[in-house]
Amino acid sequence: MNEVTDISYRGSVNEQDHLLQDCFFRVGAEHGFHDVQTSWEKFKEFKATWKRCSNTAELHITDYMKGSDPELITDLARGIFGRMGRGGVRDIYSEKLRQHFVSHEFIQRNQPLYLKRSRNLAYRQKGQVHDLEALYDDLLDTGLVTKVPNSYLTWTKSGNRQRIGYCSVIMRVVAISSALDRKEVPSFVPGYVLYHELLHLENGLRFGSYHDREFRAKEAMHPYHNEAERWLRKIAVDPQFR
Ligand SMILES: [Zn+2]
Repeated sequence: MNEVTDISYRGSVNEQDHLLQDCFFRVGAEHGFHDVQTSWEKFKEFKATWKRCSNTAELHITDYMKGSDPELITDLARGIFGRMGRGGVRDIYSEKLRQHFVSHEFIQRNQPLYLKRSRNLAYRQKGQVHDLEALYDDLLDTGLVTKVPNSYLTWTKSGNRQRIGYCSVIMRVVAISSALDRKEVPSFVPGYVLYHELLHLENGLRFGSYHDREFRAKEAMHPYHNEAERWLRKIAVDPQFR
């Protein structure tokens, strides 16, 4: 009776709505809000949005948190109300939330959902020419990166020449532009972009600059750093790669 276990663990739809509302209402009251309305949203990215008007707040919370225990939802509420009050960039996640984000349970539940919501992924590691798994193994061999468990690599469907790679740190998904998957492009080019994105995964969630000096220094340790950068500039502008 798998389904039953599942329901009792995650709670019914209504229970989940109430849990969200209760946690946010309580924390909102601590911050002087008298009227707090919440809803779960199927955002692609892990995020929350809110509107506030004097002591009224309306919040839309990522459904990737659905099914989490009340303590975690309360922590999230504390982070969000804390940020609403002060504004600006600030670390809003408690240690417990951070542990939750890197837990097997979180990734198992949410990574497939995130992949389903992504529109431009090929869901393929093997490209026409280059193989991301092989490139990853090469990077592991050099010792430049360490294995990030449960990471998911894929080529994109359409090949953007400017946005050549991106990643979701929280979902551990790395996408490399299929513009780099052609025989004219040497394998160190997608390898280098993959390296860049894997450094983000290794660093984990951050508030503030993702590309700080330390990051750039690590990035420059790639054996083909300069050559790959030259290639990427060329690919971005040269009509040959259209
Ligand atoms: Zn980056």
